[in-house]
Amino acid sequence: MRVGSPKEIKNHEYRVGLTPESAGELVHQGHEVWIETGAGNGIGAYDDQYVAAGAKIVDGPDPIFAECEMVVKVKEPQAVERAKLREGQILYTYLHLAPDPEQTADLVKSGVTAIAYETVTGPGNSLPLLKPMSQVAGRMSIQAGATALEKAHGGRGVLLGGVPGVLPGKVTVIGGGVVGFNAAQMAVGLGADVTILDRDPEVLERLGIHFESRAKTRFSNKANLEDEVCNADLVIGAVLIPGAAAPKLVSRELLKKMQPGSVLVDVAIDQGGCFETSKPTTHADPTYIVDDVVHYCVANMPGAVARTSTYALNNVTLPHALQIAKLGWRDALAANPYLAEGLNVHRGQVTYEAVARELGYDY
Ligand code: NAD
Repeated sequence: MRVGSPKEIKNHEYRVGLTPESAGELVHQGHEVWIETGAGNGIGAYDDQYVAAGAKIVDGPDPIFAECEMVVKVKEPQAVERAKLREGQILYTYLHLAPDPEQTADLVKSGVTAIAYETVTGPGNSLPLLKPMSQVAGRMSIQAGATALEKAHGGRGVLLGGVPGVLPGKVTVIGGGVVGFNAAQMAVGLGADVTILDRDPEVLERLGIHFESRAKTRFSNKANLEDEVCNADLVIGAVLIPGAAAPKLVSRELLKKMQPGSVLVDVAIDQGGCFETSKPTTHADPTYIVDDVVHYCVANMPGAVARTSTYALNNVTLPHALQIAKLGWRDALAANPYLAEGLNVHRGQVTYEAVARELGYDY
């Protein structure tokens, strides 16, 4: 199969669909790989590395959209890209169609076969193509929070690890799933005093077994949450209720009781945020202050560490890309029910029930 990756064109998107190593794997298995010139520059993967891996460098996105059977990207196609998609072509990328009627209509019109990373499943209803980005965001949340705690950024001037003779900073992680676990790992690694709140007893048990005495776990109810938040230097918002907006767990009232200069990092901002005072920010201007509490609410945290994120994403997307390239989309989806969950649009039909229902398409 001929597989191509164009340069991402969404604002401040530096990731790329295929790393040189992934391109090399596809070539090794007998496929042709076309990469738009400069597509990997943002992550330090240059054209000559792709050429050394056996890929062909092409000028601009047009040859890829016109002649590749499968287009592998990171972000949803932008309007100018959607106009180039062809009937029968396979599009393999993040799509997030439910809140995006315009994109959905364009994909339906194009006749493309669109497989969305975010709905590909794994064992136990997991979402393995979303997981690496949650891992990245969780780990980054502690870095971001530690920086925001510095005086120059409005924080209370606390070093998370403390120093000999001075107590470490107190970190409260709300939600002990993928983001929360990874945040806790980083905070524990720095030597902070870490408490993780969750309302799922099985999650609490798993965390307890993993962290032993290095982090505390606490059931997430109103009283426990208030107690933790009021005493924390850094609070990480990492809750998720699948298919719903994030619950507002820290109200404006509670915010007023927090220590001046403490920091909230709302990783759940992409689902509306779990603090009442959260509003989305960008990497260019990531924080703002309400009631003396610093808020960090960047909705696309992994974009800041594009190189790590691209490699983490490729680790989970490539095996499916190889399967599709080898078998063709129809046989690949028949052979792999987890991948089949990724099919969102096919030849003019919305094929993913939740998207069809949300946007009023026949299913
Ligand atoms: P997850 O499903 O692995 O974990 C969510 C956890 O929240 C679960 O353990 C659940 O039991 C817990 N939870 C639900 N309600 C709770 C409550 N009231 N109190 C305490 N815990 C509660 O999800 P995840 O992959 O860790 O993602 C967390 C959030 O981070 C999601 O909203 C996700 O979209 C977001 N995210 C944001 C970015 C970003 O760049 N900002 C990147 C990746 C993920």
